Amino acid sequence: MESIVLFGPPGAGKGTQAQRITEKTGLPQVSTGDMLRAAVAAGTQTGLEAKEYMDSGKLVPDGVIIKLIVDRLMEADAKNGVMFDGFPRTIPQAEALSKITSVSHVISIEVPDAKIVERICGRFTCKACGFVYHEVFNPPRSVGKCDHCDISEFNKRADDNEETVMSRLAAYHEQTSPLAEWYMSKGILHAIDGDRDIDSITQDILKSLN
Ligand code: ADP
Ligand code: ADP
Ligand code: ZN
Repeated sequence: MESIVLFGPPGAGKGTQAQRITEKTGLPQVSTGDMLRAAVAAGTQTGLEAKEYMDSGKLVPDGVIIKLIVDRLMEADAKNGVMFDGFPRTIPQAEALSKITSVSHVISIEVPDAKIVERICGRFTCKACGFVYHEVFNPPRSVGKCDHCDISEFNKRADDNEETVMSRLAAYHEQTSPLAEWYMSKGILHAIDGDRDIDSITQDILKSLN
């Protein structure tokens, strides 16, 4: 089984691209952020442990994340690999991952810090299907209605505010960005310019997966 990692700063477009490529690769999207938000909403032990870190824009401890991933990879749909979105985010997470699955490609979506705040502050998602939109850069085709469902209710994340974004970016630079070099040394890092329109980025990612 071979998995793909979508890597990049918060707001780089990992979820957006994952939603577009998952049909093409047949690999299910595994987003630790989505899994943690579901755990917080359900009030599970994991959710209770994770909440304060997420609210303040800090990384959730590696042990909590690794357990989530180990359990997720045991599910039937993960047997041919998955597409990780937002995981791994630290070297210990990557080391743990390397013991349980093989990663064929790490796609690094590069976006300058100066673009991150506007991306994150305009983000919203469909309440029913989770599709990601942006108020300015990527609104639904008909105003107020999801492109994929009949529903017209949307969510904005509590941590998508300017203050939390700054600490998420700091966490990215301190703890996550060293992973790019780690994966580069293994020869599987593919850098993609993420500061372009969504479709061009999707095309480039699909090319580097070939
Ligand atoms: P991540 O999963 O990396 O945090 P998202 O995919 O949620 O990022 O994207 C963050 C926000 O930026 C969303 O509102 C999304 O619609 C928007 N976005 C994604 N890709 C682009 C792009 N290439 N250009 C402009 N906005 C984008
Ligand atoms: P984004 O890509 O927009 O920053 P995510 O949805 O991936 O957002 O993550 C939201 C929050 O969940 C992070 O700020 C962090 O607190 C936590 N989180 C998600 N994935 C991880 C991970 N792999 N390791 C540690 N914390 C994580
Ligand atoms: Zn929808």
